[in-house]
Amino acid sequence: MSEHGPSEQPASPGGGRGGVVRGVSGNMVTTAFAGQVRMNEVAYIELADRKGAAIRLKAEVIRIRNGECDMQVFEDTRDIQVGTRVSFTGELLGIELGPGLLAMTYDGLGNPLDELAVKCGYFLQRGVYLPTLQRTRRWAFTPVARPGQRLAAGHALGTVPEAVFQHRIMVPFGIVGQVEVVEVAAPGDYTVDHVIAKVRLLATGEVRSVTMVQTWPVKRPIRAFAERLLPTAPLTTRTRIVDAFFPVAEGGTACVPGPFGSGKTVFQQAVSRFAEADIVIVAACGERAGEVVETLREFPELIDPRSGRPLMERTIIICNTSSMPVAAREASVYTAVTLAEYYRQMGLRALLLADSTSRWAQALREMSGRLEEIPGEEAFPAYLGSLIAAFYERAGLVRLEDPNLGAARGSVTLIGTVSPAGGNFEEPVTQSTLAVVGCFLGLTYARSYAKRFPAISPIESWSKYLERMRPALDAAYFPGWVDTVGRLQQLYVAGQRVADQMKVVGEDDLSLPDFVRYLSSELVDAVFMQQNAFSEVDASPSNARTALLLRLTSEVVEFDFGFATKDEARSTFTELTAAFRDWNLAAQGSAEYDDHLGRIHRRLRGGDRASHAAVAHA
Ligand code: ADP
Ligand code: MG
Repeated sequence: MSEHGPSEQPASPGGGRGGVVRGVSGNMVTTAFAGQVRMNEVAYIELADRKGAAIRLKAEVIRIRNGECDMQVFEDTRDIQVGTRVSFTGELLGIELGPGLLAMTYDGLGNPLDELAVKCGYFLQRGVYLPTLQRTRRWAFTPVARPGQRLAAGHALGTVPEAVFQHRIMVPFGIVGQVEVVEVAAPGDYTVDHVIAKVRLLATGEVRSVTMVQTWPVKRPIRAFAERLLPTAPLTTRTRIVDAFFPVAEGGTACVPGPFGSGKTVFQQAVSRFAEADIVIVAACGERAGEVVETLREFPELIDPRSGRPLMERTIIICNTSSMPVAAREASVYTAVTLAEYYRQMGLRALLLADSTSRWAQALREMSGRLEEIPGEEAFPAYLGSLIAAFYERAGLVRLEDPNLGAARGSVTLIGTVSPAGGNFEEPVTQSTLAVVGCFLGLTYARSYAKRFPAISPIESWSKYLERMRPALDAAYFPGWVDTVGRLQQLYVAGQRVADQMKVVGEDDLSLPDFVRYLSSELVDAVFMQQNAFSEVDASPSNARTALLLRLTSEVVEFDFGFATKDEARSTFTELTAAFRDWNLAAQGSAEYDDHLGRIHRRLRGGDRASHAAVAHA
């Protein structure tokens, strides 16, 4: 229902309006109010602690009817009683946007979590809210717009350096129509609250002061771009099975479902470190507390393999644990995607990793239950599918047209994990997600149990982007890459069919060609699809290295060795698999690298070259 979606109601007449609590049910509070209240409006529940000091608990309006509204409270609701006072702010649930977001860790509401909180694994005290952006830090502002210029929402007024990027200070996204620049600040160091420009709205003549910070309602997409583009280029993750067989598009979406322990978090972390993105936003919403703290502890120490700078400089972590109120989890996915959209507006490639969206869906289910809505499948709200669709629609590749900075492309790529109970992909969250994403990376228990990591199923997974990205992929690896990948995949599937057969009839009754098919399939799996996320070398191969590995792998499996016996075939494949696996772990330029490559080449020179499908060399 639209009740949870972005509201299109007109702005209400400012804050200060009051209400009174009529009922409390878990994290939901029903409040009677006079006047006007709008959907997703923020309200504070006014309490006093035991010593009589005021505590204000943040809440969001999620349903309005007959002079009462239901609010989800982002805090523990103890001590709230019938009669407790509520004040409405007139503001939608929003997040501050501006320089200083990078390298930060926030909770779902945009409260910065300091290092101490992160290290000790505790979060803010009830009713404590901190500004998202630091107020005292100064940023070196360079104007780009000139007085008299006509601009629109999203156009840059100036820039400040943030990490390795030029952070654009833009005409606020909420401004409708054109503005005329009245004045722009001179180059200098300013805090985020300093007025860096004044603009006149052409429609009304009103003059607005613009600072480096604007607040944006998290449930509304930021649309201050010229045009949406069809994603046609890959977002390289450096996880081979993904990049080759089930590639994710830059500006595309992917769903990563998997049972507990199948490697979702390890995969997300590998992607967050190695993916070819400018900005990475990790939304750790509602996983086990210990795991989240682990993520946070590790991150600050990691070095970006490409820039040699701390990975944290290009990362924002949004962190809620399963011990926090469900409403905070719901907010955190929206906060995270809003941050991603914000950096997309600067012409950057933002990657959002949401782990796990099931926890978010559970939060929706809980609130829906409290609202006594008519439940859909497995008691999830009937509108679960449309909420999930609306969330993934916020991904995308866009074209930006800036009068002063020129044309650019920006993107939000969205990868969400789902943790279906028992690994059953038929459940509503997985199914609703699969209906809208472009790429499905299904982690299976069978593969993780067999220690075939990453446990992404080569049979069940798919990517709708593969064909559309053919030119870009062939350019990134080598001409004919997509075809070679296709042949390997067919070969893999054929060999796995033999493997299934073998479970029934045993090895002895297999023909020699079928047995070689099986061995080839296992080799493709062992040397190309599997990858050790804990090996510095194997975890992030370059495109060139992946291209060479794919060439060699296909050369091996399409090579006619002229085996006389199964034993001979087995020993050859065992030897080759070992050589490849050693090579995958050897750093480029090392003596081992050449040694292991030599082992592979020598083994290939021993037999006859298959005439039908020898792979072209570079
Ligand atoms: P989930 O988040 O799905 O519950 P995890 O990501 O925590 O699962 O993974 C569980 C375990 O599986 C890890 O602790 C690790 O030992 C192993 N594992 C997962 N992925 C890999 C990988 N790519 N390489 C090596 N080991 C892995
Ligand atoms: Mg996990």
